[in-house]
This record gives sequence, structure tokens and C-alpha cells, in this order.
Amino acid sequence: MFDTLSGKLGEVFDRLRRRGSLSEADVTEALREIRLALLDADVALPVVKDFIATVKEKAVGAEVLRSVSPGQMVVKIVNDALVEALGGAVVPVNLLAPSPIPILMVGLQGSGKTTTSGKLALRLRTRERKKVLLASLDTQRPAAQLQLEQLAQRAEVASLPIIAGQTPLQIAQRAMDVARREVFDVVILDTAGRLSIDAALMEEVKSIRFAVNPVETLLVVDAMTGQDAVTTATAFNQALGITGIVMTRLDGDARGGAALSMRAVTGAPIKLAGTGEKLDALDEFNPERIAGRILG
Ligand code: GDP
Repeated sequence: MFDTLSGKLGEVFDRLRRRGSLSEADVTEALREIRLALLDADVALPVVKDFIATVKEKAVGAEVLRSVSPGQMVVKIVNDALVEALGGAVVPVNLLAPSPIPILMVGLQGSGKTTTSGKLALRLRTRERKKVLLASLDTQRPAAQLQLEQLAQRAEVASLPIIAGQTPLQIAQRAMDVARREVFDVVILDTAGRLSIDAALMEEVKSIRFAVNPVETLLVVDAMTGQDAVTTATAFNQALGITGIVMTRLDGDARGGAALSMRAVTGAPIKLAGTGEKLDALDEFNPERIAGRILG
């Protein structure tokens, strides 16, 4: 995860740590290299600027430079800034609402949305002991409905029976009716994705959101898509007001830009991380652990 960024920052820090004392010029040079490494990792420019300004403010203070191990202190300051950029603390999926709790899954096609819906269902069933209903609102691709049905079987949760000809809105309402009647705790609504953001997609999701009033509107984004993921998140957030982000493919060699920019750009926390194709490859997104991995 984030290997290139990690490698580059590692080099900067090795040099800092080796020095017994640091001058302001040394710190400025290190910050310049960190800035380049972040830009190279596709971190959004305003986020990089803020990041560097924060670190600089804390790192060039006389206290740090005159301390016993100034290099270590600068590394610690960068670590804290990384944790902050990644969102600070773990933010769990909100389950503090009366049942049935609707969770709306949104995102572009191919982001991993349907797989993530199945993963989340498994996670809620096994870890939170919730009775989960999965429902596919994707009437664009009949295969998507079957895919979710199969995922539900693998996750050993219920899926809403498919009725041909219903609109996504009708399916969402039927899912909530069934959930109330059959006393489900959580209803995961997997909306249709498109290849790119378009007005029709947003209008459809907006009408569903209005009808079911979800406790969570989770945007699924592919970490490998870098800056595009940030653009996608901005658009979905403006249209829908997302409550959280699931970042998929963190098992790949994503550069890190999406993960480091999301919180600042959307204000929404990354709640979950997809780390593989298997159904149990969904973890909480832990900023401290990820910053630790980036810094090695
Ligand atoms: P959707 O079009 O957004 O619903 O995307 P899918 O859920 O069908 O996922 C597209 C592909 O991405 C599938 O082959 C998934 O197995 C794969 N995928 C989803 N999440 C992850 C992940 O976290 N890591 C990896 N490596 N693959 C993933």
C-alpha cells in the first residue's frame, strides 16, 4: 500500500534521523522533498499546501530544532499530520438508529460497489450480529442484480427477491417495506453505477435518498483512480451529501493521493477499506495504522 510514497518519505526521514542537529534550512529542504513526494502520489494541491504549512509551523520552532533528537521530532510531526489528513480517528458505520437502518451505496460502475455491499453485509452479520437485507437497485444491468443475489448467498444474508419491471425507487421502497415487516436490522441498497458522473444518475440517486432517508450514504471509490476519485467524491458529495467513503483496492499499488485528499476535499470520513476480492476483505479505515505503514 502506497509503496512509492512510503519509499520516498523513508529516504527523507532516514537523512533527518541521521543528523544530530538540524538547521531551519535542513527542515525546509526536507519539506520541499515531502511536498514533491505528496504531489507525485497525486495528493490534491490544496491538501499538500495545508499539509506542508502545518508541518512547517510545528517543525521550525526553536524547541524542535534545539531538542535532543530533532529529526525524530520532525518525523513525529509529519506522522501526526498524515494521521490528520487521513481523517484522524476511526469512524465506524453508524448503526445508532431505529431498525431497519437503510444504508445507501453509491459510486461509479467498476468502483467495487456491489462487491462492497456484499462485504459490508457479511461484516455486519458476523461482527455486529445484524440481520441484513441486501437489495440491488441496478435495473440497468440485470447481471448486477444476480451478482448481488450471489453475494448475499455467500455472505449468508437475505436478498430482496427480484421483480422484473420495477424502477429503482420502487425496489428501494419495497426493500424497506419487507425489512419492516420481517424485522431486519439493516437494509443495504446497492444503487446503479455509471461509467461517469451524469445528471440522470444523480437525479435517480437523489430521489431514492429522499424516499428512504438513509442513515448512511456511503460512496465507494477506487483508490487506484487517484485524482479522479477525488473529483468523483466532490460531485457525489455536492449532489447527495455523503456520510462516509469506502475506499476499495487498497491492496493494490495505489499511490495514496485519493486516501490523503478525501477527508479535506469532501469533509466525509473514509470509514472502510477494501483490501482484496474476497468477501471478508473489508476493514475499518484506521488513519493511525495507515500513516504508520506509510512511514514504515
Ligand atoms: P461495481 O461495478 O462498482 O459494482 O464493481 P464490482 O463490485 O462488480 O467490482 C468490480 C471488480 O473489482 C470485481 O472484480 C471485484 O472483485 C473487484 N474489487 C472490488 N473491491 C476490491 C478490492 O478492495 N480489492 C481488489 N483487489 N478488488 C476489488
